[in-house]
Amino acid sequence: MKLNENDLKHPLISVVIPAYNEFQGIEKVIKIISQELDCCETNWEMIVVDDGSSDQTYQKICEISRSDSRIKGIALSRNFGKEGAMLAGLESATGNAVIIMDADLQHPPSLIPEMIEKWRSGSQIIHAIKRNRNSDSTVKKTAAYCVNQLITKFSGIDINNSSDFKLLDREIVNIIICDLPEKERFLRGLTRWIGFSQQNITFDVEHRQYGGDSKWSFWSLLELSITALTSFTCAPLRIITFLGLATLLLGVLVASDALLSWVNNEAVSGYTTLIICLLLIGSFVMISLGIIGEYIAKIYEEVKARPHYLIRASVGVDHKKSPDRIKKMVTSRYPLAEAARMTSNKS
Ligand code: UDP
Ligand code: MG
Repeated sequence: MKLNENDLKHPLISVVIPAYNEFQGIEKVIKIISQELDCCETNWEMIVVDDGSSDQTYQKICEISRSDSRIKGIALSRNFGKEGAMLAGLESATGNAVIIMDADLQHPPSLIPEMIEKWRSGSQIIHAIKRNRNSDSTVKKTAAYCVNQLITKFSGIDINNSSDFKLLDREIVNIIICDLPEKERFLRGLTRWIGFSQQNITFDVEHRQYGGDSKWSFWSLLELSITALTSFTCAPLRIITFLGLATLLLGVLVASDALLSWVNNEAVSGYTTLIICLLLIGSFVMISLGIIGEYIAKIYEEVKARPHYLIRASVGVDHKKSPDRIKKMVTSRYPLAEAARMTSNKS
C-alpha cells in the first residue's frame, strides 16, 4: 500500500503477540520489544492477545497497558489456538505495517529494525526464516521437516524453515482479514500463497527463555500439520487413487495365478498370499477412508462458519477501526454495559 508523506516519515507499526500462559515472562518480553521499537523512529502499538490463558497473563497485560497506552490487550474467551490469536491481533491492529512475533523471545526483537528497513524500501511481506532449530527436539525437527517437505512438494508453496515471525504491509493485512475468510487457517502458508513482493531474513531459534516448555501439545501440532496439509494440497486424495491402482495390479497378479492353477487342475494354493493381500487391502481402505474423512471434517468446519475466536475483554484497543464482524462482537452482540466494560482499563 502506498504510504503518504506523513506515513513515510512516521509510520505506525503494530506488533501482534499471541500469548498463552505467558505470565512468567510477558512483562520482560514487552519491555525488550518496546525498547527495540523505540529505537526505530516510528510510532508503534503493541497488541498482546491472551489466548485463553489459565494464569494471570491478561491481568499483567492490563497492568502494563495502564502505564503505557501503546500497549494494548485482547483476551479471547478460551484457548482458540495460535492461529486464532494471531488473527485477532491482525484484525485489531491499526498500523501501516504489522509484525507478528512470539511471546517468548524465540523470535529475536533485534530483527525488528531490519524488517522495518526492508518494508520501507518496498517489500510488503518480510518472512523470518529459521536458520537452525536448535531449540527443538530431534523428533519435532524431523516431523516439522517431513510436513514442510510434503506441503512444499505437493502445493508448490515453499514453507521450509518458515516461522510465524513476519512483517506484513497494511495491504497484505487487509487481504488476509477481508479476502481470506477460511476457518481452517495456516498463516505461514497463506502469506506465501498471497504473492506480492516478499523477502526473507534469517534468524537462529534460541531456547525458550521464560514459561517452561513449548505451549504446543503433540495433538495440537498434529492438528496444525493436518490443517496445513489439507488447506494447501489435495495430493493425499490423489495418492488414494494411486493406491487403488496398485492394489488392482496386485489383484490381477493373484487372480491370474489362481486361474492358472484352476486351468491346470491344481488345487489353488497361496493361503498366506491371500491373507497378506486381504490385510494390505484392508489397511489401504482404512487409511483412504481416514484421509477422505479429514477433508470432509475440514469442509464441515468451513460450512459451520463459526467465528475464528471470541473476544472476552480488551484493553486500550479501539474497536471502531476493526472489521464490522469484530465491532459487532464487542458492541451489539453484548449488552452495552458489557461493551463498555470491555474497552475500559479494568481486567
Ligand atoms: N500460543 C498461543 N496459543 C496456543 C499455543 C501457543 O497463543 O494455543 C503462543 C505462545 O504463547 C507463544 C507462541 O504462540 O507466544 C508460540 O508458542 P510456543 O513458544 O509454545 O511454540 P514453539 O516455539 O514451540 O513453536
Ligand atoms: Mg516458542
